[in-house]
Amino acid sequence: MSKRSILLGNEAIARGIVEAGCEIATAYPGTPSSEILPAVAAYSDQLGTKTAVEWGANEKVAYEMAVSASFGGKRTCCIMKQVGLNVAADPFMSTAHFDLKGGFLLVVSDDPGPHSSQTEQDSRYFAMFAKVPCFDPSTAEEAKEMVFDAYDLSEKHGIVTMLRPTGKVDHARQDVPLRDEVLPPRKDEFKKDPKRWVCLPAGVKVNHPRLNDKNDAIRNEFEEDYGKYNYVVPAKGTVRLGIIAGGTTFAFLSDMIRTSGRDDIEILKIGTPVPLPVKLCDEFIARHEKVLVLEQTYPVIETQLNDRTKIMGRWNGFVPRAGELLPELIEGIIAECLGDKVETSIDEDVRSAMEEMHVTPRPPMLCPGCPHRASFFAIRKALPKAINPSDIGCYTLGIMQKGVDSAIDMGAAVTAASGFYLASKVDGEERPVVATIGDSTFFHSGLTGLASAVYNRHAFVLAILDNRITAMTGGQSSPNVGTKLRKGDQGVQIDLEQVCRGCGVSYIKTVEAYDVNENVDVVKDAWAYAWENKEPAVLIFKHPCITILKEPPTPRPVRVDPEVCIGCKYCITSFNCPGLVFDESSKKAYIDERYCVNCGVCMSVCPHGAIVSREEA
Ligand code: SF4
Ligand code: SF4
Repeated sequence: MSKRSILLGNEAIARGIVEAGCEIATAYPGTPSSEILPAVAAYSDQLGTKTAVEWGANEKVAYEMAVSASFGGKRTCCIMKQVGLNVAADPFMSTAHFDLKGGFLLVVSDDPGPHSSQTEQDSRYFAMFAKVPCFDPSTAEEAKEMVFDAYDLSEKHGIVTMLRPTGKVDHARQDVPLRDEVLPPRKDEFKKDPKRWVCLPAGVKVNHPRLNDKNDAIRNEFEEDYGKYNYVVPAKGTVRLGIIAGGTTFAFLSDMIRTSGRDDIEILKIGTPVPLPVKLCDEFIARHEKVLVLEQTYPVIETQLNDRTKIMGRWNGFVPRAGELLPELIEGIIAECLGDKVETSIDEDVRSAMEEMHVTPRPPMLCPGCPHRASFFAIRKALPKAINPSDIGCYTLGIMQKGVDSAIDMGAAVTAASGFYLASKVDGEERPVVATIGDSTFFHSGLTGLASAVYNRHAFVLAILDNRITAMTGGQSSPNVGTKLRKGDQGVQIDLEQVCRGCGVSYIKTVEAYDVNENVDVVKDAWAYAWENKEPAVLIFKHPCITILKEPPTPRPVRVDPEVCIGCKYCITSFNCPGLVFDESSKKAYIDERYCVNCGVCMSVCPHGAIVSREEA
């Protein structure tokens, strides 16, 4: 190991994956994990490996591809974010029971906080549930190092291993060591062996006790041989408190102790929380009067401790049961445990920092010029009393336009539309339902819901907001776009209309999302068809995401005519473009040219015709 380089945590993980000899890497994009797979492709090219990199249509698909590719002996990996593991839970639980041959690494990035997720779950619990070992890195360098150990452990015990970075590890930058050589590829020698590769109930009777044995053996190894991840950081002075910490909380804690000069805390750092090296913890607890457990987000370490009588943690309320454990919070918790005075006020710190930076806080909203805004507006205008289930992605931001009544998880817009239809059907009432879903999300898990709705004759309009990109996670491709991760590696674009037709939908129309006035009638017609024929009607609102346009479109600059504007604020409350603002002194709307991208869509929005083309001035 000769060189070092400053890498993003996700790049460090990717570099470790390639250096460790992984030959098949799959993923579904999701913040905070999205950068890992593109970086695997880049490092593979740079280091001359032939690593196959593929986006799966969803996490279950990605997982099954990668784990099956390991059955012949190759090292493979699958990458996703925490909610993605819910989608891949089925194959994850099954293959945890398998006796794997090649090393298989599952990277799941958690999002404590959460910053961009619909839940705040802890994948270490999933590891416990599936009985697979979990590595919980505190830093980018440690995450990279853990990749090698996770592969070795996977091959040694024939078990799935999980690397679980959290957002702060994924997105921090650190100077990490690089290897010049990558580990040699393994030959694919898949041997037919149904007892090993077919998950029959009879097999579970043998495999589950074997999985328990693997866990016992791995726990012992974590106790004895993994001192580089599980170790005590002694206090410099007289110890007043022992803290067990892992993941980013350990990193925050170390920084805090270094900068504040605290010398009264001893830390037991746990980098392998599942299965927990319990003996190590028991010994540590026995040496201290009080032990605080700091981990995020769930009490995974705490739950596995033999004796919790001295423990201050989540179970007895010392540590908040939700939210990210940020340094300021940790400082306050420690002070409280020791009975010291808490001097910091997080709110006050944040407020003064915002003031200093002249930042005006505002809720997340669709970008100016986003085609989804125009689609939501047309849908709402066409059927204001409709129920609007939606989905996970940019379209969730349609909530600001009152265009989102429910969002459960990926793909649920379609199945929720079925549910809302059934609820009104049993009451014998006609209540329009217009669901919105993105193009990549439709391929992720909307398809099955649509097939089910056609089969069951559910009347609703499904609006697929096709912006030619998986935008919210950073612009990845999907079956709808057809491009692949590596340049020169061409995929096949799957036509949305054909897919819907294949699901049995008869009424399908593709429209230009910016044509608000026309689309109002289109939505009304689609609902009339769906209700009359008792089947779903599909509208595809097509317009590329404003952030991926290679050539800017012909500008349609607009202005608000102050003579015509009556200050009703309808454009602000219903259309909600950051380029449209309201001047409280003149009581008129105006265009904020710092944000306006001259898409011209808002000309269709003002009911009084006050928003006009600038050329007409
Ligand atoms: S521009 Fe039109 S919608 Fe906006 S405040 Fe003026 S009159 Fe109302
Ligand atoms: S033209 Fe109107 S809708 Fe388009 S970005 Fe500017 S203010 Fe927003």
